Amino acid sequence: MDQPLRPRHWPRASYDPHYDPLVDAGPGHNRDYAPTYWIGTAGPAPVDDGPISGDTDADVVVIGSGYTGLSCAIHLAKEHGIKARVLEANTVAWGCSTRNGGQAQISSGRLKRSQWIERWGVDVAKKMHVEICEAFDLFRDLIGSGEFDCEPQDGGHFYIAHKPGVMPVLEKETKLLNETFGYGARMVSREELHENHVRDQEAAGAVHEPDGIGVHAAKLAFGYQNLARKLGAKIHPGSPVMGWKTVGGVHHLTTPGGTVRAKAVAIATAGYTPEGLTSYTNHRLMPILSNSIVTRPLDEAEKEACGFTTRSPLTDTRTLRHYYRFLPDDRVQIGSRSAVTGKDAENPRHLALLQEGLYRKFPALRDIDLDYSWWGWVDVSHDMMPRIFQPDPEQTIFYAMGYGGNGVMYSAQAGRRMAQMVAGKGQGLDLPIFTSQLPSHGILTPFRRMGQRFMYVWYHIRDERL
Ligand SMILES: Cc1cc2nc3c(=O)[nH]c(=O)nc-3n(C[C@H](O)[C@H](O)[C@H](O)COP(=O)(O)OP(=O)(O)OC[C@H]3O[C@@H](n4cnc5c(N)ncnc54)[C@H](O)[C@@H]3O)c2cc1C
Repeated sequence: MDQPLRPRHWPRASYDPHYDPLVDAGPGHNRDYAPTYWIGTAGPAPVDDGPISGDTDADVVVIGSGYTGLSCAIHLAKEHGIKARVLEANTVAWGCSTRNGGQAQISSGRLKRSQWIERWGVDVAKKMHVEICEAFDLFRDLIGSGEFDCEPQDGGHFYIAHKPGVMPVLEKETKLLNETFGYGARMVSREELHENHVRDQEAAGAVHEPDGIGVHAAKLAFGYQNLARKLGAKIHPGSPVMGWKTVGGVHHLTTPGGTVRAKAVAIATAGYTPEGLTSYTNHRLMPILSNSIVTRPLDEAEKEACGFTTRSPLTDTRTLRHYYRFLPDDRVQIGSRSAVTGKDAENPRHLALLQEGLYRKFPALRDIDLDYSWWGWVDVSHDMMPRIFQPDPEQTIFYAMGYGGNGVMYSAQAGRRMAQMVAGKGQGLDLPIFTSQLPSHGILTPFRRMGQRFMYVWYHIRDERL
């Protein structure tokens, strides 16, 4: 493989490109944003409330200021009249929420509808589908509220078969989605895809799901930030929670600037959750690195060759999937798996692999200049589904995490559901994602990364060779 072209915006040391949640004590303190396309084009970050300075009291503290934490703060204020304090270790939304692909899809977690049925039976699966549809409505309402503009590209989502052998599986899943769940997905032939949407050279065909929106990831986070503050929440960057003790039901959260005493704590730290934060989250998430690149704007000939008439989110059917989009300013963004460890994240081999993925789909873009490259930690749970949960009824501690790379849309609802639980209104929430904890990795904990390396080899063989 040729030496990869070095992108113009390459990670700087000031945001700690090697950060690794399984190795480091925490996500740091006051780190810069990753040099993502989103941060490069969002404009200045909005006003915040500065780091915690001195000891203080709060009804509710939210730990983590990504989409989940901010949505929780928004809904605590909007629906329950509670003005939370959000504590963030670094800059606001420093984690996945300013590093993702900006794809809002009608899913959360990594399981397909057929797998929901296998796991829970058809009745629960149907209720889960209703929850996801309600979540999409909430997301649409938020981004359409006029409070902020995150440049929504609303045209549905194309799930693209990366080889002919996957078409029968796609057809079966689409039939199930439509007949059992009453959804309106549609099979699209390779010819129709190429003619009317995108000339992805690998595509054997696709499914079009009518719900799918591409957004500007950082403008979404900044929009949530402004909205949360407007509703009365306080947002404190540069305030990592580094110690936690509970005395008489009150949580004492230590930050470098002072201790916050809170009656309730909502944890929204996703793939950036430090191992030692609380025993309730320890060894229950597998942080997986995903990387992403953005090209320079395409010229007319390149646009014609790639046949981009859609700006909808696209993903392919690989287990280690590619997620890609034609951005509003005519660049192409594509992401996929990255290194296993933080230390190896900068290894050019991972960038080269992603570039090859882009070239296979769009040969006309071979050797195109890249303007941005970055990576981030995705929160994958042991059973591939998220949880919004109160782990101990005696403790006013809650968490929402485990979206497995599908959190742009569902994090809005997860934050809202967590707010409902914090406010003592979670009684009707009876789906398994609300009533059970994140499964532990148990005795597999020390072998997680070994297992991951093994699975990557197997997935590669299955995706590319079989
Ligand atoms: C490269 C990449 C591409 C992705 N693409 C997509 C996509 O296209 N579509 C999709 O649906 N999903 C995608 N995802 C996943 C999606 O971005 C996440 O599900 C979502 O952003 C999670 O938001 P969050 O608020 O739960 O967590 P984050 O946004 O990760 O926020 C967690 C925050 O917690 C903070 N924190 C951690 N520990 C502490 C502490 N001790 N004290 C204070 N703060 C702390 C961190 O600094 C961080 O800012 C992608 C993820 C990555 C990494």
